[in-house]
Amino acid sequence: MTILRISLLAAVAALAYGQERAAVETWVASHQRRIMGEFDELLRIPNVGTDRANIRRNAEFIRGLLERHGMQAELLETAGNPLVYAERNVPGAARTVLYYIHYDGQPVDLSRWKTDPFRPVMRDGAWDIAGWAALEKFPDDWRIYARSASDDKAPIVAFCAAMDALEGKFASNIHVVIDGEEEMGSPSLTAAIGRYRDKLKASLLLILDGPVHPNGRPTLAFGARGIVTLDLTVYGPKMALHSGHYGNWIPNPAIRLAQLLASMKDEQGRTTIEGFYADVPALTAEERRVLRSVPDDEPALLKLFGVAKPDAVGESLQEALQFPSLNVRGMRSGYVDEPRTIIPTEATAAIDMRLVKETPAARMVERVRAHIEKQGYHVSESEPDDATRLKYPKVARLKAGETMEAYRTEPESAEAMRVTLALTRMWGAEPVRIRTMGGTVPIAPFIRELGVPAVGVPIVNFDNNQHSDNENLRVGNLWSGIVTLAATMGM
Ligand SMILES: [Zn+2]
Repeated sequence: MTILRISLLAAVAALAYGQERAAVETWVASHQRRIMGEFDELLRIPNVGTDRANIRRNAEFIRGLLERHGMQAELLETAGNPLVYAERNVPGAARTVLYYIHYDGQPVDLSRWKTDPFRPVMRDGAWDIAGWAALEKFPDDWRIYARSASDDKAPIVAFCAAMDALEGKFASNIHVVIDGEEEMGSPSLTAAIGRYRDKLKASLLLILDGPVHPNGRPTLAFGARGIVTLDLTVYGPKMALHSGHYGNWIPNPAIRLAQLLASMKDEQGRTTIEGFYADVPALTAEERRVLRSVPDDEPALLKLFGVAKPDAVGESLQEALQFPSLNVRGMRSGYVDEPRTIIPTEATAAIDMRLVKETPAARMVERVRAHIEKQGYHVSESEPDDATRLKYPKVARLKAGETMEAYRTEPESAEAMRVTLALTRMWGAEPVRIRTMGGTVPIAPFIRELGVPAVGVPIVNFDNNQHSDNENLRVGNLWSGIVTLAATMGM
């Protein structure tokens, strides 16, 4: 039924497509220089989150930009960097779409950048384009190099251009909030809801951040996994002991930790901790269809990574991402580089668990703790004292660290379908639909607290070096991003 619905609508949409897209593309083609000029100006303002003076310059510049593009804009002060907020309302509109973008960027290591990260450079492959700012046309495969070219200033400029291209023909009220602290974990964002709840009210939240699928097709993302980190330490003797004098008699904590970790997963990479997957409902046929339709090239990925056979948590990469995971990100015990013949005092594993919507952090940490106890361990959050060491044959310390919950809007829900169909209609083909992104986004608490359906609408190229040196944007992604955002404004 649902399959029929989407394929039928896609067919209808494909008939309508062409005209709308051509109109936006024609507009873009004749305004490339102006759009690129605005982008250049914005990229020239340094935007590392701790650089308060420049952060405010960014916020003020963006406020002016949004006003020039016909919005009513203001700065919303928070405990940290200001939010830029703007609205453009449509008389009689029943719905409001709130866009989320961020204007801060990751810190820069100047020694690793080929050119100044805040002096945008245009390149065709390895060739610098001289005097590019004066050009009228910018080919798709050129790239602009600057901090935040992709993450996340391109969406700000594309958002403004999309409004112009539509010439006010919006189907809903358009509101936008632009964060100045995303790369610092958005510490002030959720609290801002308390202060500005009325402004942030919406029918739908669209998140303009992150890259499209590596195959370059328009992409929607309906959720992201959360994370909780854990440090697990297993204790041996109080002091490192001679392995000749005491080997075979004093238990070795590295071996004990290895046994403990091995008890947490089977040979196929599936977690054997009781209840680990229990709260995740079985995927429906339609959900599987959405996952299967993502055009991942798994053989190419395995070849790139040098891995013969993936874990068997899901039937595919996308299916695997629908479940919580348990990952050992590092281990430490004794001496390796200058070997000493000792029995170490302790062994530590640094673990991260990726979470899904149905598996909140606290519950999953409890499940891990219960599992460790079932293996005969006394588990505490602090270092064991002498009395504890003498009382319990097996002692472990489990300490949870950084936590961020997951979020997901069902791809089949009404608002999610609305966005899917808007893009299908504009592009004449269904977008890549990512049910759950594997990584974690700091705005998940904001999304959960706002309580509105949220859909990610990424526009930038996947190979943009975001967070790293020589960040760049493929010019064609800016142009196609404007078309994609125009589609979301016309729905
Ligand atoms: Zn970002």
